Amino acid sequence: MSANQPPEKRGRGEDKWFNRNIGDVWIHVCNTLEDAVKCPVCRLFGISGKRSGDKNYPSRTIFRDAHLCNKNELEEVIEIKYETAIDRITSAANPRPMERVVPGAEFAFEIVYNIENEDEKKEDLRNLINLMKMLEDDYLGGSGSRGYRKIELRITRVVERPKEYYLNEGAERELLKKEEGVRPEEALNQILEKI
Ligand SMILES: [Zn+2]
Repeated sequence: MSANQPPEKRGRGEDKWFNRNIGDVWIHVCNTLEDAVKCPVCRLFGISGKRSGDKNYPSRTIFRDAHLCNKNELEEVIEIKYETAIDRITSAANPRPMERVVPGAEFAFEIVYNIENEDEKKEDLRNLINLMKMLEDDYLGGSGSRGYRKIELRITRVVERPKEYYLNEGAERELLKKEEGVRPEEALNQILEKI
């Protein structure tokens, strides 16, 4: 993306990085399999063809559904936040209620990373976990710039399952286990020492 481009051009189709639009949003998707396997983004998140007949490159990562796990500690799971937009000229208010999950709600989920290339697993894991850190300073979903969807991530367990595990000829290797979880950067250091 070039900072010299006018704002209406940045991130549009002619740009290498934000080259595919999904609704109103432009994202990065490599256009060929050959590019995707060399790309740190598409290796992790996969590509889908633009037209029928195009080849897909499946994501190396699987993100399972997140389930609420501390419901008993919360008075309510959902709250209504009232907010208003104010017309800058007339000062007219446009109040609206927004439904959102309450602060303190905890969700458990699982990520599976498929090792396709041993030489790339460290780089892929480093990117995946560093993205978790970035997500903490960003937000999950919409309306984050006005207070919604700030999250904190903790990693409770990491295992590596070699081919032998699936053939009933060997066990999985536990790389990290801590019930209360560790911060992404601490988890990354522990994992990289063992793989
Ligand atoms: Zn790519």
